[in-house]
Amino acid sequence: MAKYKYLHHIIQSDVGAFDKEWLPGQIAVNAGIYRCKACGDELVLARGQAVPTAHHQHSVLGPVVWQLLIFAQEHPK
Ligand SMILES: [Zn+2]
Repeated sequence: MAKYKYLHHIIQSDVGAFDKEWLPGQIAVNAGIYRCKACGDELVLARGQAVPTAHHQHSVLGPVVWQLLIFAQEHPK
């Protein structure tokens, strides 16, 4: 489970990006932490990075499906 210390740097949001399911090989639209819906493992993806295909597999838990847990907010410079 993802952890944080300073709540004032995190804000709750109900944007649809958190509901989308990501399959291995798809290209992440948001940089952030993704959670496997089957086993709970978490990983970090950069925007434009492919969801990993080979290093995360299940033998009995079913298909690997990732869901965005926290996305990294970028501010215009
Ligand atoms: Zn998993």
